[in-house]
Amino acid sequence: MRTFETLQAELFNQLQDQLFFARHSQTGFEQLQEFGKRAAFPSEEALTNLSRFEESLPGSTDAIDDVLQLLATHGSAASTSYMSGRYFGFVNGGMLPVSLAAKAMSIFWDQNTAMEVISPISAKLESVVQGWLVELFGLPHITVAGFVSGTSVSNFCALAAARWRILANQGWNVNARGMHGAPAIRVVTSTQAHSTIVKAISLNGLGTEQVEWIEVDNQGRIRADLLPELDASTIVILQAGNVNSGAFDDFQTIGEKAQETGAWVHIDGAFGLWAQATSSLKHLTRGIQLATSWATDGHKTLNTPYDSGLVMCADPQALAAALHMSGDYIIEGTRDGMYYTPEMSRRSRVIELWAALRYLGRDGIDLLVHGLHLLANQFASQIEAVEGFTVVNEVVFNQVLVQCPKDEITERVIRSIQADRTCWVGGSKWMGRKVIRVSICSWTTTTEDIARSVDAFSRAITAGQ
Ligand SMILES: *Cc1c(COP(=O)(O)O)cnc(C)c1O
Repeated sequence: MRTFETLQAELFNQLQDQLFFARHSQTGFEQLQEFGKRAAFPSEEALTNLSRFEESLPGSTDAIDDVLQLLATHGSAASTSYMSGRYFGFVNGGMLPVSLAAKAMSIFWDQNTAMEVISPISAKLESVVQGWLVELFGLPHITVAGFVSGTSVSNFCALAAARWRILANQGWNVNARGMHGAPAIRVVTSTQAHSTIVKAISLNGLGTEQVEWIEVDNQGRIRADLLPELDASTIVILQAGNVNSGAFDDFQTIGEKAQETGAWVHIDGAFGLWAQATSSLKHLTRGIQLATSWATDGHKTLNTPYDSGLVMCADPQALAAALHMSGDYIIEGTRDGMYYTPEMSRRSRVIELWAALRYLGRDGIDLLVHGLHLLANQFASQIEAVEGFTVVNEVVFNQVLVQCPKDEITERVIRSIQADRTCWVGGSKWMGRKVIRVSICSWTTTTEDIARSVDAFSRAITAGQ
């Protein structure tokens, strides 16, 4: 008869099998080795085979090799390859080998980063990386960082901090008294704010219908000239990198206005904040230090593995109070990660981020970010030369928006490029028209990949003629 002890014996055996982890990591590794040859998106066959996972929960313990074999065969084939060099969908970064290796090493430690006493190494790396980020982005020295899952959660945390501060300044403790009957908070943002900003506004009880939505210019930048009067109960939400055009709002002009009036400025810089870490693109983020909170992540532009969001806040008390579980205080002298994130238990995602920054250094970060921009420029100029395609945005960062003469053609071309699988791109709407979104976000992309992808675009537009 199987007992808990026999189950334990099986598990101990698995743990002590020296080749067990090596064997089962091999499939993932082999897939990665093929990155240049792999299609950016799974084949139709691989997608069909996903139905193999549709089974009811087994009644009894299965052979471990069967479990992992199923994953190796049908999981691997149906994964999307952001490392292919030709995946240009959404804004999905690749992975730096140093980050992947640091992650692979540290998964065996399985650290919980809630408190310093639970994981001293995580607490140390979080405080070191916080210091590096403050320097890299040129933020006020008082700025603290929380290591969250992505920019969505960063945006949510930053707005929670802003909400806490604005209400606390009016003698209203939102943690205790809630939002019902609270003094009004104004939210000013552009009609091009990212959908995760809209979500953060809703989650924080700020009400999307209460927002003062400001029109944008032809690149998707908030019209600074249309900004209403600001005051100390206003949150102004700006963006570094429009998710379609890659455009940056004018942080200097708006930041100065906000500082005069005591308004809180939050910058959503998911992929664009990294412009600040370059010498050639730094002009795009001029004035970012005038904000009070910033959201960005490692998993897009910096190419860390997924699950690497960063919330940074120059009002440490507000961030800690908004996210704190038991009171509005910070324990001085220690780094307890849970005061800067919504979660208590959390994996030690800082490790991959630390490894990326420690390896690249200032120069390497500059080269990476600037390199993605140059590839975007290459794509834009090559696609402009193909009849039927027009680039409709100024390529200031890593995003290229491509349009065909008619929306129907643009839609057909997107479907055709996706079916061809040389590269992967998605569509969007820009100024009322359909566009193809091209985001250059992986360090693996080469000039050759760009050329091959431009050829795939050409084939797609001629195919339907
Ligand atoms: C991707 C993105 C987000 C959301 O970030 P996640 O890391 O996916 O949660 C927010 N804002 C902008 C501008 C983005 O590009």
